Amino acid sequence: MDLYEYQGKRLFAEAGIPVARSRLATSIAEAREVAREIGLPLVVKAQVLSGGRGKAGGVRMAADEMQLVAAARDILEMAIQGRRVAALLVEEAVAIERELYLAVTLDRHRRCPLLLFSTRGGMDIEEVAREEPQALLSAPIDPLTGVRDDQVERVVDAATAGVEGGDARALGESLTEVVRRVWELYRSKDATLVEINPLVVCASGQVLALDAKVSLDDNALYRHSGMEEWRGVEDERERRAAEAGVKYVSLDGDVGVLGNGAGLVMSTLDLIAGAGGRPANFCDVGGGARAQQVVAALAVVLSDTRVRAVLVNIFGGLTRGDEVARGLLDGLAAAGATLPVVVRLDGNQAEQGRALIAAAELANVAAAADVDDAVERVVAAVNGGVAVPGPAAHGGSAGPPGGLA
Ligand code: GDP
Ligand code: MN
Repeated sequence: MDLYEYQGKRLFAEAGIPVARSRLATSIAEAREVAREIGLPLVVKAQVLSGGRGKAGGVRMAADEMQLVAAARDILEMAIQGRRVAALLVEEAVAIERELYLAVTLDRHRRCPLLLFSTRGGMDIEEVAREEPQALLSAPIDPLTGVRDDQVERVVDAATAGVEGGDARALGESLTEVVRRVWELYRSKDATLVEINPLVVCASGQVLALDAKVSLDDNALYRHSGMEEWRGVEDERERRAAEAGVKYVSLDGDVGVLGNGAGLVMSTLDLIAGAGGRPANFCDVGGGARAQQVVAALAVVLSDTRVRAVLVNIFGGLTRGDEVARGLLDGLAAAGATLPVVVRLDGNQAEQGRALIAAAELANVAAAADVDDAVERVVAAVNGGVAVPGPAAHGGSAGPPGGLA
């Protein structure tokens, strides 16, 4: 399980690894509250499970209230590497003197934890390893005895090279503490990664973990009370989908997509984009899906609150249209969903499926004539507030039009 930066930093604080003051915010109003509490300047940071936030514009300095509001608004609407920003970490801005890199990671090849350190912090560490391998110090850790004194010394030597007397001593002492505590956190939480990039030396000489990337071993989560709750919302959706035997992927628009087969789903996504719509996610129920799987898939798709309309595109081979229709109707009823749902059923038992949907007489559910018609309707529903139901071929129209903005 990968943790968000703010979660990692909570673990850091508990473990005695120094971090700047910060608070989580999920709205502009909350970000302003943090400003009242901590004061300006602040750094607004996207909470998203992907690296490279800085480069993507997901880390912004705010010197005053106006910049804070602008940064919060922009970043809350961002997606980085296809992942929607979940929240903001609003953190006290610090004056950085130097950026270091420190990590303990699992070396699966050598079957032991690995201590990594570099004075080239703040950069992509893979790049450092590639282009300047001598700038990356690595030392295997014996899991039974932990980080050794001589290993800590190598880190301190590298970090204090060129630093003068008293400053070098102070830096050496704080760095020694941080290295020991990072190892202890890694060990005690059954982590597979604890990475601080950058670990900064402030103008004041203080050492601070400015970023936190922590991964925990899923198989050891049961040993740590409260950690299960930290499973990301997306992870939770993926887990539920996997449990039901369907594939779920999160995107960043507002149309939920449910289909069968990777090829069909991908072409559906393309058609939606081509029509000016933006898929929020998709669930691929695969071949031969039963009603129960469709219910589960629909629940996963609908649990995403960004979803404003759903497109169901099924071409039945092994999958039977009537099974899909039953699953859809049950799933919609279970979720109490009233948002527009456009269904395209073709192939095996499609006629029966459409008949079931028509018989249900749901005002928000429409059967489409074909894929193009389905895409057009669903995009119109989210973009134009156009009513979804209407006359459709195959006698699939369900209920009166209207009420589907
Ligand atoms: P990442 O790009 O996802 O790894 O995000 P980071 O948390 O590492 O932030 C990226 C960069 O933003 C850091 O390397 C810093 O250079 C800069 N940064 C983050 N917080 C601060 C801060 O408080 N003060 C200053 N001056 N720079 C910061
Ligand atoms: Mn970083």
